[in-house]
Amino acid sequence: MRGTMMDYPLTLPTILERAGKIFSRVEIVSRKPDKSIARTCYGEFYRRARRLAAALTKLGLQAGDRVASMMWNHSAHLEAFFGVPCAGGVLHTLNLRLHAHEIAGIAKHAGDRFLLIDDILLPVYEKFRSDAPFEKVIVVPHGSDAMPDGFLNYELLLADAGDDFRYPQLDENDGAAMCFTSGTTGHSKGVIYSHRALVLHSFACGLGEVFGMSHFDTVLPVAPMFHANAWGLPFACTMLGARLVLPGPSVDPESVLGLMVSERVSIACGVPTVWIAVLEALEKNPGRWKFDAPVRIVCGGTAPPLELIRRLDRYGLQIKHLWGMTETTPIGTSGGLRPHMHDWPDDEKYEIRAKQGWPAPFVEIRLMRPEGEAPWDGATSGEIEIRGPWVAASYYDSPDQAHRWTADGWFRTGDVATMDEAGYVKIVDRAKDLVKSGGEWISSVDLENTLMGHPAVKEACVVGIPHPKWQERPLAAVVLKDGAQATPEELRAFLAQSFAKWQLPDAFVFIDAIPRTSVGKFKKLALREQFANWKWES
Ligand code: ADP
Repeated sequence: MRGTMMDYPLTLPTILERAGKIFSRVEIVSRKPDKSIARTCYGEFYRRARRLAAALTKLGLQAGDRVASMMWNHSAHLEAFFGVPCAGGVLHTLNLRLHAHEIAGIAKHAGDRFLLIDDILLPVYEKFRSDAPFEKVIVVPHGSDAMPDGFLNYELLLADAGDDFRYPQLDENDGAAMCFTSGTTGHSKGVIYSHRALVLHSFACGLGEVFGMSHFDTVLPVAPMFHANAWGLPFACTMLGARLVLPGPSVDPESVLGLMVSERVSIACGVPTVWIAVLEALEKNPGRWKFDAPVRIVCGGTAPPLELIRRLDRYGLQIKHLWGMTETTPIGTSGGLRPHMHDWPDDEKYEIRAKQGWPAPFVEIRLMRPEGEAPWDGATSGEIEIRGPWVAASYYDSPDQAHRWTADGWFRTGDVATMDEAGYVKIVDRAKDLVKSGGEWISSVDLENTLMGHPAVKEACVVGIPHPKWQERPLAAVVLKDGAQATPEELRAFLAQSFAKWQLPDAFVFIDAIPRTSVGKFKKLALREQFANWKWES
C-alpha cells in the first residue's frame, strides 16, 4: 500500500519564498571590503535574489547552465545562492584563492557561462581573463559604480529586473549548486548538489547534534562560501531564519573577534587554523574581547587539537566538532558530549569532544579493511565509506572516478578512522597522510595534535618522509609561539608520554609558518616536497 501523502518537491524556491515572508525583518549583516558594516534583511534579500533570477533569465540563462561566483562572504553572494538555482541554473562557487590558471581550468571544466564577481577581485580575474570561458561577467560594486568596459553592473541589472519573476518548473533532483574539492591531496574534483540534497541537508543543520542552529541564532560563517558548499550555511540559515553576519574579506583574528562581540554572534564556523589564531589573539590581549554568552564554534575541515578545545573554553568559545567533505555537502558526522557524560572527569570529556562525533541522520558510515568491515570497537581502524541523500554518487565529468565508489554504491572517503560502540568516529588520518613505517601505520594527526598541546608550540604538522630502511618516518615541522623556546629532545620527551618509541618523529624542524591550502588547512604536500631529501641519521 502506498502512503497517502503528497509528493511535494524539495526545491529551493520554497525556502526563499518562506524566508521572504516569515523572516523578512531578520537582519543580514555584511562587513564590506572597506570594513564598514552594511545591514539588510531577509525581506530585501528575497526581492534581490528574485531580481537576480529574473536578470539572469533575461540574459539567456537556460536550465542547468552554470553561473560561477568569485566573491567573499557578503549579502550579494548569499543572493547568488538562491537567485541562480531558483532561475534553473547551477551556482558554481569558484575558489578565489587558487592560482589564476587553476581557476580558469576549473571554470572551463565546469562549462561556466556567466561569472558574478566582486569588483575588488577584478585584478584576479584579469590574470586569467584570456583563458576564461565566460560569456558575461557581472560585477558587484562595493565602492564606485563605474564599471570598466565589457562588464555588467550587478546593481543596474537588479534595478532593471522587476519584481514579477516566475520560477521555472524545477525537479528536486536538478542540480542547484556546484563545488570543487579544495585539492588538499591532489586535483580538485567537482560535485553537483541537487535541490533535494540541499533541502534535506538544511534540515540536518538545524539539529541540536549538528550545528544546533535556529531562528534564535546569529551565525558567522568565517569559512569562505566557496569552501565545501559554504558548509551548507546559506541554505540552512535562510530556511531557519537565522540572523547572518558575513565577514567579507577580513578574517584575521582581530576582525573575527570584533564582529563576534559587536554583533553578538552565537554560532561561528571555521577551520581550526582560524581558531588557533583567534586563541593566540585572546591569550595575548586578555580582557580585550568579552562575550555576553558562550559562543558555539563549529569547527571542521581538519581535526581541532584537543588543547585548542580546552583553551578556547576558558573564553566561552565552545568548539563543536564537525567532520565532512565537499562530497558530503558537507555534513558527515558531528556530536559532542551525550547527557550521561556531563559528570565525567574533564580529561575524558575533552577526549570525547576531540572525536568527530557520530553520523548525522540518514548518513550511513562503515569502516572497511582489506579483510572486511571493521567492528565498532573504538580500536580497529578502516577507511570510512559513506552513503546518504546528500552524499555524491559521482563526480562531475571525471573519467577515472569509478574506484571512489564501491560496487554496492558507497563513497570511499580516503579517511581512515575508528568507531566505538556508540558510533563516535575518530579520524586517524587521511590514508595518504598516514606515515607508513616498516609495515606499521603512524597517525600524523595524533602526533601533531599532541604536539600542539606543548606550551611552547603554536602549530605543528607531521609528515611521512621517505626513509631508506623504514619506507617512511615521521618528521615534525614546528612553529613556536612568539618568544618561546623548545629543543627537539624536549618535544620528543613530551610526545614519549603518550606514544610508543617507534611512533615518535625522528626529526623536528623549526619553521616560521606552516604552508596553508587555499582554505586554511596545513599543506602537507608542500612540506613533504620541501623535506623529501631529508638526511636521516642512521
Ligand atoms: P580536500 O579533501 O581537498 O581537503 P575538503 O575541504 O572537502 O577537500 O576536505 C574533506 C576532508 O577534510 C575530509 O576527507 C577529511 O580528511 C578532512 N576533514 C574534514 N573535517 C575533518 C575533521 N573534523 N577532522 C579531521 N579531518 C577532517
